[in-house]
Amino acid sequence: MKIRFPICARIRASARLVDPTAGWERMDVPIRYGLVEHAREGLVLVDTGYSEDLYRSHSLALWFYRSLLRPKLMPEGAVGAQLAAIGAGPEDVRHIILTHLHADHICGLDRFRNATLHASAATLELWSRRPSWRDSGHALFRGLLPAQSAFACRTLEHAPEAPLPWGGSGHDIFGDGSMISVDLPGHMEGHIGIYFADENCLYAVDAAWTMAAIVKEPRLPWIARLITPDRPAALRSLAVTRAAHASGVTIRLCHDPEPA
Ligand SMILES: [Zn+2]
Repeated sequence: MKIRFPICARIRASARLVDPTAGWERMDVPIRYGLVEHAREGLVLVDTGYSEDLYRSHSLALWFYRSLLRPKLMPEGAVGAQLAAIGAGPEDVRHIILTHLHADHICGLDRFRNATLHASAATLELWSRRPSWRDSGHALFRGLLPAQSAFACRTLEHAPEAPLPWGGSGHDIFGDGSMISVDLPGHMEGHIGIYFADENCLYAVDAAWTMAAIVKEPRLPWIARLITPDRPAALRSLAVTRAAHASGVTIRLCHDPEPA
């Protein structure tokens, strides 16, 4: 199994915004997604990142979000370019595991109609819920989401339970022990990470934004606190990620500035 975490965009921001232990100097915050070549299941995406589809939806809330963050797309890291580099196209993607529904994880979903979508029950429920005035405050932009009915969806909780090396259990997504979903709620309803067993690696996605939050100071940066719907749960998920790290598991994050 081959796993990559390409960078599809970068956001220029003050380091302090994403890392409570950092200074105010400007830094590049990467946006990653996962591309897995699974021996039995074929091509698997973990989220779809940002893409030019971010600019195709015209809601005022999304315009505000784009103006605030001004993400710089990295064409060479885009899903399409990364697939082309291995001789594949969007139609060859067999599975997409959605960690949560923030804009930087779901752009261009519509292009992968052949894929089965795997997500937590809470994520699928949030997706199918009626629009609410709270949505944009939680960085949920429904204009970026296709109709859920367009996809074959599988609830992660229906996959068999599997133990995790640092304690507790997750769900064995493909039933072969290779990729186990890990509940990491708080950052957004239904947020999950993925434990890659052979690599002994936890992709903790947005449970933390920097390794400093895991290694040095388990605090949420203030911008994360602003959009986090459930802060106590987010702190518990951060503790789970710290426990995994302490047990010797390699941690990968979506936005950590260190090269992944
Ligand atoms: Zn997020």
